[in-house]
Amino acid sequence: MAAIIDGKKMASDIKEEIKTEVENLVKEYRKSPSLATILVGNNPASEIYVSLKYKACKESGINSLIYRFSDTLTEEELLKKISELNANKEINGILVQLPLPKHINTEMIMEAINYKKDVDGFNPVNSGRLMNNCETLAPCTPKGIILMLEKYNVEIEGSNVVIINHSSVVGKPLALMLLSRNATVTVCHIWTKNLKEHTLKADILISAVGKRDLITEDMVKENAVVIDVGISRVNGKISGDVDFKNVKKKASLITPVPGGVGPMTVAVLLKNTVEAFKMQYKR
Ligand code: NAD
Repeated sequence: MAAIIDGKKMASDIKEEIKTEVENLVKEYRKSPSLATILVGNNPASEIYVSLKYKACKESGINSLIYRFSDTLTEEELLKKISELNANKEINGILVQLPLPKHINTEMIMEAINYKKDVDGFNPVNSGRLMNNCETLAPCTPKGIILMLEKYNVEIEGSNVVIINHSSVVGKPLALMLLSRNATVTVCHIWTKNLKEHTLKADILISAVGKRDLITEDMVKENAVVIDVGISRVNGKISGDVDFKNVKKKASLITPVPGGVGPMTVAVLLKNTVEAFKMQYKR
């Protein structure tokens, strides 16, 4: 029977550490780190994520400003706002909540954010740095997963890790971060043939699809570590990708949904905001 990785508790401990660090920064620089969040449109899930991030910032002493725009906002108008925030010395971190409306080119927007303020780690400078094992402003979800594995003393080096996701938000950066820790990484996705053949080889299985019960007990190796990143909402109930009740019997460690990867993503965002502040102010 698997032990449960308590992402909620880990995130709350990180928040406490950040709070102390922010208090020290305030003593030294007479100001707290500030995060600007841009929300375009009224996607209900995005609204929830933005309010969770706002609350976490407040609890840790980080200033949080939210800029809301309707989904008729043009790409030019968004680029103008980003350039204004890039130039504003009082703003240390900039986060553009994804997904953006279809008429806006997400890659172009990520490139426009000053890489020193890029707390989501999606600017090509920061994603490129992952290639060189530099994780200063690394994407929040992958970094949160690495922190969880480290906290629970999961052996990464030499392990077979199977990631089901090949997006720039989760799978690609996570694969690089695991490779730099000497794991053998397999990246699966919607085009992968016979998914089970891959998952059964995983010492560490990480699923980020958003499809309830995608991962069943028969797809998991005995004593595997199972990290569930997926989020799907059915009748208002949040589920992960993993059939938690049954997979738990076979795995050695498992994350719940909710209360696993989600809170860690928010905690790493706070860490990145403090890191961005320090990069901008430290002499
Ligand atoms: P995405 O749509 O960009 O990526 C989905 C990935 O799943 C792709 O690689 C796709 O090929 C793959 N996929 C889809 N159907 C599949 C199938 N049947 N079999 C195998 N692979 C399949 O989404 P994303 O932004 O990368 O997010 C993925 C999931 O993770 C979503 O559910 C999202 O809500 C969740 N997520 C959670 C957190 C968190 O903090 N907990 C953070 C980011 C994303």
